[in-house]
Amino acid sequence: MSTDSQTTQSHGGPQQREFQAETRQLLDLMIHSIYSNKDTFLRELVSNASDALDKLKLEAFRDKDLDVDTSDLHVELEVDAAARTLTVRDNGIGMSRDEVVDLIGTLAKSGTAQMRSALAAAKNAETSAAAEELIGQFGIGFYSSFMVAETVTLVTRKAGEQTATRWESSGEDTYTIEEIDGAPQGTSVTLSLKPAADDELRDYTDERVLRDVVGRYSDFIAWPIRMQVERT
Ligand code: ADP
Ligand code: MG
Repeated sequence: MSTDSQTTQSHGGPQQREFQAETRQLLDLMIHSIYSNKDTFLRELVSNASDALDKLKLEAFRDKDLDVDTSDLHVELEVDAAARTLTVRDNGIGMSRDEVVDLIGTLAKSGTAQMRSALAAAKNAETSAAAEELIGQFGIGFYSSFMVAETVTLVTRKAGEQTATRWESSGEDTYTIEEIDGAPQGTSVTLSLKPAADDELRDYTDERVLRDVVGRYSDFIAWPIRMQVERT
């Protein structure tokens, strides 16, 4: 399959777009979440990374012409304590620009119908308790990052494609999307963490915290999970 069948957009700088109403509702829920188990965001990001590695391995097997290196497939957690960022990176299949818009910018994923009706029900509920319950109940996915992050930046380049995509949002109404050059194949998700002073939150720049969370929720992941912690 040709990879340049897609319309290439000009590198015209970041473009701002609005989230759909339902997505905004979900994001709002995440941002203001009092759900106590915020650790689960990391499970979601590591599980997406692991899926992306599975997909690349399968695709490389199916398409012998796909020019990718599958010799060192892994997930990497990188911390910059001074900048208060946590990055979850994989060298998996990556996403095209359209995939970023469809998969990340909307709720176009499995369980959407269920999530929709549950969200509608939660909206009518007097307290946020019903909404909180949802977070525990569903596979909350990528957006769960907003429970702990002020800003989320995703950079991704799909296997076989040249141009990468940068997506960024603070989870409020809009996101920006931009084509960039020079990004490695795969996906990195960088969370600009909420202030450490927020004592509801554990410090996800602390290696011990990360090891604990990964040990509890991502123990079954088949791919290596590496850690790079830059201490202050
Ligand atoms: P789910 O994993 O249940 O589909 P998510 O919200 O976690 O829902 O992710 C939505 C979609 O975004 C995924 O199905 C996948 O197609 C894409 N995606 C997310 N993270 C990655 C990643 N690291 N690499 C490639 N694709 C990803
Ligand atoms: Mg997921």
